[in-house]
Amino acid sequence: MDPSNPQFDLWLDGAPRPAASGACFERHSPYDGAPSGVFADGGEEDAERAVDIARREFDTGRWPTTPARRRYEILTETARLLTANAQALAERMVLESGKPITLALGEVASSARCLQYYAGLALSTEGSAISERNPSALGLVLREPVGVAALITAWNFPLLGVVCKLAPALAAGCTVVAKPSHLCPGPAMLLARYLTEAGLPDGVFNVVTSQLEQGAVVGQHFASSLKVDKVAFTGSTASGRAVMRAAAVNTKRVALELGGKSANIVFPDAPLEEAARTAIGAFTFNSGQQCSAGSRLLLHRDIHDEFVAMLAEHASAQVLGDPREATTTMGPLISGRQHERVLGYIDLGRAEAKLVTGGGRPADPALERGYFVEPTVFDEVSNSSRLAQEEVFGPVLSVIPFETEEEAVTLANDSAYGLAGGVWTGSMDTALRVVKGVRTGKMFVNCYNTAGIDDMPHGGYKDSGTGREFGQVGLEEFQELKTVQILLR
Ligand code: NAD
Repeated sequence: MDPSNPQFDLWLDGAPRPAASGACFERHSPYDGAPSGVFADGGEEDAERAVDIARREFDTGRWPTTPARRRYEILTETARLLTANAQALAERMVLESGKPITLALGEVASSARCLQYYAGLALSTEGSAISERNPSALGLVLREPVGVAALITAWNFPLLGVVCKLAPALAAGCTVVAKPSHLCPGPAMLLARYLTEAGLPDGVFNVVTSQLEQGAVVGQHFASSLKVDKVAFTGSTASGRAVMRAAAVNTKRVALELGGKSANIVFPDAPLEEAARTAIGAFTFNSGQQCSAGSRLLLHRDIHDEFVAMLAEHASAQVLGDPREATTTMGPLISGRQHERVLGYIDLGRAEAKLVTGGGRPADPALERGYFVEPTVFDEVSNSSRLAQEEVFGPVLSVIPFETEEEAVTLANDSAYGLAGGVWTGSMDTALRVVKGVRTGKMFVNCYNTAGIDDMPHGGYKDSGTGREFGQVGLEEFQELKTVQILLR
């Protein structure tokens, strides 16, 4: 077998198994078109089989009643295996998704940390006792696993996007079926192997891969299955709505991590140089393929010209290139389809706003085969335009000037989305007023995804979704509360 083009089966009942149909699909590198893996093309029959296995493992009670200490050990050992195999995992991500190697290694490290965090929380999943006014009465609140959890994930964080759902699900005692995106399924398949190697009982974690069209079929099967108790979804808002509709058949729990169009607001009293450098990172990280990208930059009129000049300078410092190279900061976009889509938004921008820098494919002939897009900044964008309202999911920034704090908050909130946002100012009063005024699930003050604080809840308001991942609340998403009242005799 060619090591750069390995074959991955589905992962069912603790072992690799071909799809029932025997069909496969191939993935190619978005950097140079080289084959990067062959994957089993699972369908409805496989999805049903995965759900049955997870249901069996839950209903027999083997995993839900596994002592917390053992769950802690398995999650900790998986974290260790991820760290020990970081290079292989990162290289897989690079091959399938074009994510630069330094970012991919960072994602493996974050995934290991996430597993370790929930390993710790696994030790505190029992619940609490409440003493009542009546001395012979005792109240208990038990925390029980929600049941069989279906995880449906996107390709932009192909490992962490699965781990941040799986780790709390396993810590809580749930059994799991997962469907990674067809665009980068390899990391989830490697994760399944490491979990089994770490001692996870067979059947507790099952993965069904499938190509594009079948992906929606498998996702819908999971979401609508009466045997599934919870669905945790990451993806576009349109797919999220379809998942929510399907999930209503048995009122299962639904968590949706969807798109965003986050506003990064800069006031004149901000540390401008740092704000400009960070604003570039906020929309070019992972080539802009990031749900919480700061893709709208709201600039106070007084600093507008100076700041826009700084943006152009920092944008030119981005290194587009081979994602296997440590010096590369921006790799290609994930697919030809996504490339066309992003270039389409750039055409739209040229027609309705002022191009500051970038504006298409890079001129470097060495990058011709990859789906590259230059970091692109448009100025004087109207907040009501499509460019400012729709999620581009590429390295395209819309600069929108403002004059007052009130106007900035109104513009930030004038969006169907509500995932994240940033505010840059030397005044904590201004910062806190803006933080409270902007309706999003996350706000950064004088930073943008750069403070280095982990394990805090992540999720959106409005069309950016419902539910939260990471942190204590991420565990509670996979737990039911059972109230017990005992009268002592
Ligand atoms: P997508 O919606 O196309 O696919 C996401 C997953 O859902 C895939 O596994 C896909 O096969 C599956 N799917 C597609 N249609 C489905 C359907 N009708 N029913 C059930 N499952 C279905 O999204 P994508 O292109 O993979 O990811 C990009 C999107 O994800 C962006 O909008 C981005 O903002 C969002 N995202 C959000 C977060 C967050 O935390 N909020 C994180 C990462 C990505």
